[in-house]
Amino acid sequence: MKVQITSEEQMPVAALDVQEGRKFFIKNYGCQMNVYDAERMEDMLAPYGFEKIADAKEADLVILNTCHIREKADEKVFSDIGRVTKGNKRNPLIAIGGCMGQAMGRTIMQRSPKVNIVFGPQTYHRLPEFIARSGLAAGKRKRVLDTDFPALEKFDSLAPQGLRGPSAYVTIQEGCDKFCTYCVVPFTRGVELSRTVESILTEIRALAEKGAKEVCLLGQNVNAYHGLGSDGKECNLARLLQQVATIDGIERIRFTTSHPSEMDNELIELFGKERKLMPYLHLPVQAGSDKILVDMNRTHTADEYLQIIDLLRMARPDVAISGDFIVGFPGETDEDFEMTMDLVREVGYSSAYSFMYSPRPNTPAAENTNQVPLEVKKERLQRLQDLLTEQQKAYNNSFVGKTIPVLLEEAGRKENQLRGRSPHNIAVNVEGNQRLLGQQIHVNITKATASSLFGEVKLD
Ligand code: SF4
Repeated sequence: MKVQITSEEQMPVAALDVQEGRKFFIKNYGCQMNVYDAERMEDMLAPYGFEKIADAKEADLVILNTCHIREKADEKVFSDIGRVTKGNKRNPLIAIGGCMGQAMGRTIMQRSPKVNIVFGPQTYHRLPEFIARSGLAAGKRKRVLDTDFPALEKFDSLAPQGLRGPSAYVTIQEGCDKFCTYCVVPFTRGVELSRTVESILTEIRALAEKGAKEVCLLGQNVNAYHGLGSDGKECNLARLLQQVATIDGIERIRFTTSHPSEMDNELIELFGKERKLMPYLHLPVQAGSDKILVDMNRTHTADEYLQIIDLLRMARPDVAISGDFIVGFPGETDEDFEMTMDLVREVGYSSAYSFMYSPRPNTPAAENTNQVPLEVKKERLQRLQDLLTEQQKAYNNSFVGKTIPVLLEEAGRKENQLRGRSPHNIAVNVEGNQRLLGQQIHVNITKATASSLFGEVKLD
């Protein structure tokens, strides 16, 4: 089926009019970067009269902000396109964004005639224009596909970030040059790009003025940050963090996601020096076997990873470490997998994400004929997750009977329940008055589960 698609150069730039009462629904998939992007889309659309709603059936615009990291994720999106708009009598405009949009734009357009707009992570700042070009009015719609890579232009043209609680995310770096052999991110988010120091500090100052107390700096390889400083010199993550720590109102700082090969001594030592830098680091390792790490193109050995953990614990003995793991990578033997289990036992993780290897289109590992059978992958994943859960439970239990500072971020699931995060990035639930939201308070921890802590507000 020949698809008539209007791309960038074919259409003059269209301006979207402002009309109050427009409603949009957005479903997010995947990583924290996508959560940040979705919030920025909301900030972009608000001035045009779009209000975010929770029910897709009532929406004039439906956005699926996708992930492309695993096959299952792609198929889920195709089924969601029909499912989320079922019963919607407003004939909504359907837009697909995110990494799957970037990687499979034309395929989506061919497979899903209902889809009006497809864009990538680097062009969502043009969403108002895409809507104008496509046309909201039913019957006269055009289809728009734009998967360009103008990353820095994007940040310069985003609407100011709205504050959604005392903790805010700020993207400082995008894209990835690492080309791990199983990963699509370098193809969907492009080359590594670092924002200027001044543009980041300006965004964080504005958030602090609105009441933000915590900021988490985001990047695919956030510790590869090398933005231009106002002195015209290159600035690394450690020096950027020190500048962020001087901003009034910011009490807590975090960053994610780091790569072991980019952990320099300056950054490691900062954990021992900067009290606003929270004692928590998400440091993916994926596997414990050097043979597999080479086949993954991870550019470090298991020993080098363990040395970083040792140095971190010397700088900040109570630092919490979380990780990412892939089991069943092509060629992984029982011995290789045991090395992963040994590494996990040696580190002792406070939390971790773990997945079965999933072949991704156009990645070198997908071409590897030595694929591990699904049953073996499942058995290994179960063993790894049992060990990680055991470690997480033991880690959280170590806080029972202690008093810890907690930044209260949102209402909990139960009545009078408030939810926040400890400095070690553990979710904490307390009973308390909503007036406490946004404050950092002390909590006496009374109970722990594998996923969170429970306690009472310590009355000073
Ligand atoms: S470091 Fe590797 S896994 Fe992470 S985004 Fe880059 S290519 Fe993907």
